[in-house]
Amino acid sequence: QTFLNRIDALNPAINAYIALDQDKTLAQAKAADVRIAAGNATPLTGIPIAQKDIFCAVGWKTTCGSKMLENFIAPYDAHVITQFDQAGAVNLGKTNMDEFAMGSSNETSYFGGVKNPWDFSRVPGGSSGGSAAAVAARLCAAATGTDTGGSIRQPASLCGFTGLKPTYGVVSRYGMIAFASSLDQAGPMAKSAEDCALMMNVMAGFDERDSTSLNREKEDYTRDLNKPLQGLRIGLPKEFFAEGLDAGVGKVIEDAIAEYKKLGAEIVEISLPNTGLSIPVYYVLAPAEASSNLSRYDGVRYGHRASEYTDLMDMYCKSRAEGFGAEVKRRILIGTYVLSAGYYDAYYLKAQQIRRLIAQDFEEAFKKCDVIMGPAAPSTAFKAGEKVDDPVAMYLQDIYTISTNLAGLPGMSVPAGFSTSADGKALPVGLQIIGNYFDEARMLNVAHQYQ
Ligand code: GLN
Repeated sequence: QTFLNRIDALNPAINAYIALDQDKTLAQAKAADVRIAAGNATPLTGIPIAQKDIFCAVGWKTTCGSKMLENFIAPYDAHVITQFDQAGAVNLGKTNMDEFAMGSSNETSYFGGVKNPWDFSRVPGGSSGGSAAAVAARLCAAATGTDTGGSIRQPASLCGFTGLKPTYGVVSRYGMIAFASSLDQAGPMAKSAEDCALMMNVMAGFDERDSTSLNREKEDYTRDLNKPLQGLRIGLPKEFFAEGLDAGVGKVIEDAIAEYKKLGAEIVEISLPNTGLSIPVYYVLAPAEASSNLSRYDGVRYGHRASEYTDLMDMYCKSRAEGFGAEVKRRILIGTYVLSAGYYDAYYLKAQQIRRLIAQDFEEAFKKCDVIMGPAAPSTAFKAGEKVDDPVAMYLQDIYTISTNLAGLPGMSVPAGFSTSADGKALPVGLQIIGNYFDEARMLNVAHQYQ
């Protein structure tokens, strides 16, 4: 009820939630009370969680931020939704997001932008902008997000909280609307590393309904939180501290690294030489996969259908023209282009080869260090409208996050401090921690010791 009251008061201004249903939420809360009284609660029983509107949930609209799915009600629950339900968590509502998770500012949402709680003239980041603003404004105890190129970590950095993108394959993608399937991964967005660990205990685990879900033993992500960091080797990639990084952000990150030295860590200089290629490679591969994934929205089985058309082809064309926004159309055009005969070898195949090189860069780096650190985003939160007409400037927001998605590695953003903007606002800065495959427990430990 406390959270619902806050949502009532603040959501009209922030626009973090795009679907709310007080009756459903309170019914789940009451059921949690009964379960707690009966003595079979889990750590998340009764905890109110916001769900990114990319997860299918029975009884809720699932729009993925698009007009295409404005009235879509899923016939089944996403794995992530089922996991939280079984844990007894309470679903507070569905959160706003960039259309089909394409964006870095939440401004591509059909349902309007989201305000950054630290400064309403600024964006919360994206694509998980609604979840980010909900966590930062305390409109939920924690939220879910998805990260294809940075959509958990960049908004976590811009809104000042902890977000984790797990190793690819650790959280099932079943019922999570597909953007770029080889990169998409769901993860927790919460106040602290400890909260993220508790959420990971619920979200992670094998699910045979996702062919890329990894069949590994269940682990307790809280197990290493209190380990001392003595002897930890932190790799600093020189490419993450080069041109393009805002000076104020750089200073906060340097101070955080100094703090880690005090905690007993050892600093190692490393190189990720193909960092500069990660954005061009991503913007070939992600649109290629998206163009294929989005072909299912044909106006026939579900989603928006144009009301007037002459024949079947005209119905497809009009439904898609009306249902998709500009950024989604841009991605479909890029994707179909790079996959077309004659260009496939030059773009798609080449990008796949460079993707392998980017993964090898990390393999080399992890021979010298245990975790990699750097900024999560190149700047603090920017003004709404500032980058909407410049897609390339928008794409650069993910310069430090995208390479981990391409390699399938886990990454997180942890609040590291504040940097003052030109107009005198103190804005949060996120420190990125990148771990080796399946090293989430260690990353959470590293973050927790700092917090
Ligand atoms: N900003 C990137 C994009 O627009 C990443 C988005 C994401 O991680 N979902 O594609």
